[in-house]
Amino acid sequence: MAETLTISENLVAESRLPQVDFNNIPFGRVYTDHMFVADYVNGEWTDLRIVEYGNMSLSPANMALHYGQSIFEGMKAFKDEEGNVLMFRPEDNAKRLNRSAVRMCMPELPVDIFMSGLTRLLEIDRGWVPNLPGTALYIRPYMFAMDEYVGLKPSQNYRFMIFACPVGAYYSEPVSVKVEEEFTRAAAGGTGEAKAAGNYASSLYPAKLGQQQGYDQLIWTDGIEHKYIEEAGTMNLMFVIDNELYSPALSGTILPGITRASVLQVAEEWGVKVHVGRLAVETVINAHREGKLQEVFGVGTAVTVSSVSKIGYRGEDFELDMDNRALSQKIATYFEEIRYGRKADSHGWVIKL
Ligand SMILES: *Cc1c(COP(=O)(O)O)cnc(C)c1O
Repeated sequence: MAETLTISENLVAESRLPQVDFNNIPFGRVYTDHMFVADYVNGEWTDLRIVEYGNMSLSPANMALHYGQSIFEGMKAFKDEEGNVLMFRPEDNAKRLNRSAVRMCMPELPVDIFMSGLTRLLEIDRGWVPNLPGTALYIRPYMFAMDEYVGLKPSQNYRFMIFACPVGAYYSEPVSVKVEEEFTRAAAGGTGEAKAAGNYASSLYPAKLGQQQGYDQLIWTDGIEHKYIEEAGTMNLMFVIDNELYSPALSGTILPGITRASVLQVAEEWGVKVHVGRLAVETVINAHREGKLQEVFGVGTAVTVSSVSKIGYRGEDFELDMDNRALSQKIATYFEEIRYGRKADSHGWVIKL
């Protein structure tokens, strides 16, 4: 860090922590005592502060609400057996936030402000990082427009914030997915590779239709021919065909997941043959017909690894063998062990608070 940043602190008199039942935490509904806030005013990030988590007031004409300049990140912190707080590749989240910011015509946030705010918030609220097996603190950094203005142009003022939620042990049940060939998540030249709020809003309606047909999630396909696999709602996708690992290349329409990059790297180190490129839906379906499609799974911070039990394609369902998930389970175990500090991290990915 080049200089020591000044972060003001206005802390709660009494923590809400004693009221929380860590054995029973609903996902995304319980928030820690504090949040980090920074404002971008007159071309500068100022007023870095830690304050009580709570509502804030916004102008009815706040530009983020009307024109959608709003981006976010998602990451997790874990507690090891000695009570240390561990983060997984946090600077990659800071850098991705800035790539999203550029695409949405928003100011970049210096990585040291991101890291100092994150670190200070976690130090203050470290009691909120749960230590039961499988639990974590989910962290949500985000930035949005703050101008009060009606008219289409980039806002001049912005706010960056971080809040956090303890999350319970997440048993990721296998999911059923439908190959989506009508609606598009992201088109070439669009905002698919930015973690921009609007991408998720536009995916809700097609996802709802998929759920009405009995599928948990969608597999998005390319916006031009609907022939090539892109990703799922908040997960990148991986396929094991004939003992080799396939994943769609980052084409500009796919969110560059940090879990994805980590999984591909580790698989390669294990000697798995990894194919990153265009992946046609037909290739996957044909592999299934020939009995060569062994595993399908999504990867992302929220779930780490989520198995796909069934793929719906053109009215037909293709089941996957849930008793044979060797590679995805090896990956899930590996990442669980390094994230909780039970196994040495040889990549420099796990950062101790
Ligand atoms: C956040 C996200 C992912 C996963 O990214 P991670 O960095 O691994 O958490 C994948 N796809 C979409 C659309 C996402 O928003």
